Amino acid sequence: MLGTGTSAGVPVITCTCDVCTSTNPRNNRLRSSILLRNKDQSILIDCGCDFREQALRWKINQLDAILLTHGHSDHVNGLDEIRIYNWKMGIIMPIYASEGTLDNLRARYDYVFAPKHIGGGIPKINIVQIDENQPFEVLGHPVLPLPVLHGELPIIGFRIGNFAYVTDASYISEETLRRMEGVRYLILNALRHKPHPTHLNIEQATAIAQRIGAEHTWFTHITHDLDHETTNAELPEGIDLGHDGLEFEIDPTAQVPEL
Ligand SMILES: [Zn+2]
Ligand SMILES: [Zn+2]
Ligand SMILES: [Zn+2]
Repeated sequence: MLGTGTSAGVPVITCTCDVCTSTNPRNNRLRSSILLRNKDQSILIDCGCDFREQALRWKINQLDAILLTHGHSDHVNGLDEIRIYNWKMGIIMPIYASEGTLDNLRARYDYVFAPKHIGGGIPKINIVQIDENQPFEVLGHPVLPLPVLHGELPIIGFRIGNFAYVTDASYISEETLRRMEGVRYLILNALRHKPHPTHLNIEQATAIAQRIGAEHTWFTHITHDLDHETTNAELPEGIDLGHDGLEFEIDPTAQVPEL
């Protein structure tokens, strides 16, 4: 996990609360993102405004593809950094995104999609449009899309083998829950205790995590309301707050449900 923080990150600029001023590094949360890597390939899920910091901190010297859940700033505002991989690796970066996310990218990145002049170092990307009901492959790995609602906005999570990643959800349909059956490792968003119109809170996310029944669930997209240690002490067995730098091993070849 490269980041587990909500859109403002933790600490929050100007905030002097106990979590923001905590010396526990697990209370320090960059914007939510995860890197999937094996010895030859690295796939990034979401590329928010902290991506540069994340790439430096965890020495992401190779990046082969990016999957986007949706087009909000905290998930796509790091895409300009892709230029470095264009130069260093000589690749045009494949970016997998839904039509709605692409509309958002076109508006945010006019200098990439409709360049008015040559030069200035524009990220070179190869857009692959994905459909929420169509499994696809990334670098040879099958990916099952997990459509969820983020308030009113339809966005996408991803299942790869025995692992599912869902962020920024406030509602998960029965069909999407079915697509997560049998996952061993789950990452799910849980903002804070207080309810929120566009994000699951801890209580809602816990109920969904228990229903999915993964061997281990880690929460992400967390605000400064939640202290890492005290919140984890209250969560049920097998469910914890994620933290930046958390690593675990997934099996991308594990069987997934049919669509
Ligand atoms: Zn977000
Ligand atoms: Zn704070
Ligand atoms: Zn969002």
